[in-house]
Amino acid sequence: MTADFGTPTPWQIATVERVVVETYRARTFSLRLAEPRSFRAGQHYDVRLTAPDGYQAQRSYSIASPPPPDGSDAAGAGLADVIDLTVELIPDGEVSPYFHEVVQPGDALEVRGPIGGPFTWGSDLGGPLLLLAGGSGIVPLRSILAHRATAAPDSAALLLYSARTPADVIYRDWLDAQAQCAGKVAVRYAFTRRPPPLWDGYARRIDPPMLSDCIAALAHLDDAGRPPLCYACGPTGFVENAADALLSVGISETSIRTERFGPTS
Ligand SMILES: Cc1cc2nc3c(=O)[nH]c(=O)nc-3n(C[C@H](O)[C@H](O)[C@H](O)COP(=O)(O)OP(=O)(O)OC[C@H]3O[C@@H](n4cnc5c(N)ncnc54)[C@H](O)[C@@H]3O)c2cc1C
Repeated sequence: MTADFGTPTPWQIATVERVVVETYRARTFSLRLAEPRSFRAGQHYDVRLTAPDGYQAQRSYSIASPPPPDGSDAAGAGLADVIDLTVELIPDGEVSPYFHEVVQPGDALEVRGPIGGPFTWGSDLGGPLLLLAGGSGIVPLRSILAHRATAAPDSAALLLYSARTPADVIYRDWLDAQAQCAGKVAVRYAFTRRPPPLWDGYARRIDPPMLSDCIAALAHLDDAGRPPLCYACGPTGFVENAADALLSVGISETSIRTERFGPTS
């Protein structure tokens, strides 16, 4: 079955295979799907929890893992039987605390997906890619970066990841390994609350001068020096600020794709 961008697929059961602690408030859940499906990097699944009294709560979680290597683009559909979802804890929330405090390997969850059309990337779209992550907005961008590594390794990519402090950075080791191994990938961090001692990187929220700087760095990585295709994901306020800043440095609206996870934080 290929990824359908219009109609959500029916609910199905997924079994939790593994739980990985990523940070003090982010965990990754590997889910084995009863009905494997193809997907595009950037898509998400809905998760539905049902209480014994029948009360239901439903939330969306982006797929962190890349599509299967044998094709996620329009032409060839590789079926993913396991997907990774990374959930950041919102302490007063309903669903994310359940993931953090209750969900264990072996548990069954009701899920539906993949869902999402505009905020996706495949090798058909090419590069260079400017990826802007705010907090847990890194999750779908991880899928895009990992997919790029196998599907279009010649496409340059720069990830600018805005996090409160270094302890809030999800997938830190993986991201730094990407930047070290893959010549065409750069990763930059912007710490908004507590940068590490002697930090000489960005220590503020994303703004136009920061983006101009990143776009110039990306142009060095891209042989053709083309304008970037931009993806911004995170809390609503982050995404709106990032999109405005991209427009203000001359990126066209048609080159900007956004995904909002929730309220400003
Ligand atoms: C397409 C899409 C993909 C998403 N992917 C992910 C993902 O990969 N990982 C992930 O952790 N979350 C993701 N989210 C957010 C997720 O769906 C939930 O909104 C989040 O987990 C909070 O749910 P909750 O039930 O714990 O909190 P709720 O009970 O919904 O909210 C509790 C309180 O927290 C506030 N709040 C809700 N969401 C957020 C937020 N994101 N940031 C700050 N405050 C918030 C609410 O306003 C409320 O005050 C995604 C959302 C969308 C729409």
